[in-house]
Amino acid sequence: MSAVLTVEKINSYYGKSHILFDVSFDVRKGETLCLMGRNGAGKTTTFKTLVMVMHPKSGRVIFNGRDMGGLKPYRIARLGLGLVPEDRKIFGPLTVKENLILGTTTGKKGIWNLDLVYEYFPVLREFQNRAGGTLSGGEQQMLTIARTLMGNPDVLLLDEPSEGLSPVMVNTLKDLVLKLKEAGTTILLSEQNIKFAMAVSDCVVIIDKGHIRYESDIETFKGDDVIKRQYLAV
Ligand code: ATP
Repeated sequence: MSAVLTVEKINSYYGKSHILFDVSFDVRKGETLCLMGRNGAGKTTTFKTLVMVMHPKSGRVIFNGRDMGGLKPYRIARLGLGLVPEDRKIFGPLTVKENLILGTTTGKKGIWNLDLVYEYFPVLREFQNRAGGTLSGGEQQMLTIARTLMGNPDVLLLDEPSEGLSPVMVNTLKDLVLKLKEAGTTILLSEQNIKFAMAVSDCVVIIDKGHIRYESDIETFKGDDVIKRQYLAV
């Protein structure tokens, strides 16, 4: 299947520190690709570069056939690249419902609306009138994902969604991602939780010290214990 998102030899820096080195990979329509790597490997920097919160010094991000170079992050969200950031930026004083409605500012049309979000995330329907800041960490994670879905993205970018969640919440998240896959959502995920990644992904790309070291389908990766030991904390 053809790539909906192509990352082509991106090099990104924080000041003079060179963080990403010729990072390249493709995300194909309908698939869930997981970018795996240890702490500090460059996962978040990759995601920030994809939505041009950070501009690469060289390389290209091609989304739906269009070069994202030089575009502002809000334009990229409107074009359908929907980031769920690692730090769960919900608006604490606003209600859950108000947070969700903010997600529609992309103006993009698609299947997602309040009714469907409430169907996928019953806890958000229950708490729709509560201030977002009063939700638990796991519920806030669900709210951040749901808010991004309200913008009807073509590709959902999930940056370490399982981080800091209880095992029960990780399970809920897993079921949700599997449901989103069934609905045809294209997902780029970053993770350190191998078990979670293996349960939801179709393919894996491993990043280490800003370099892509490994790419494979999930079944091959599952049996590749040497790679897991070499690049991931197992
Ligand atoms: P984590 O799981 O810890 O979030 P990560 O794989 O997402 O890890 P990044 O956050 O992309 O990793 O960090 C990659 C490298 O960039 C690390 O060496 C980190 O110290 C460095 N880095 C991250 N943010 C900054 C910043 N604002 N200024 C300078 N260096 C940074």
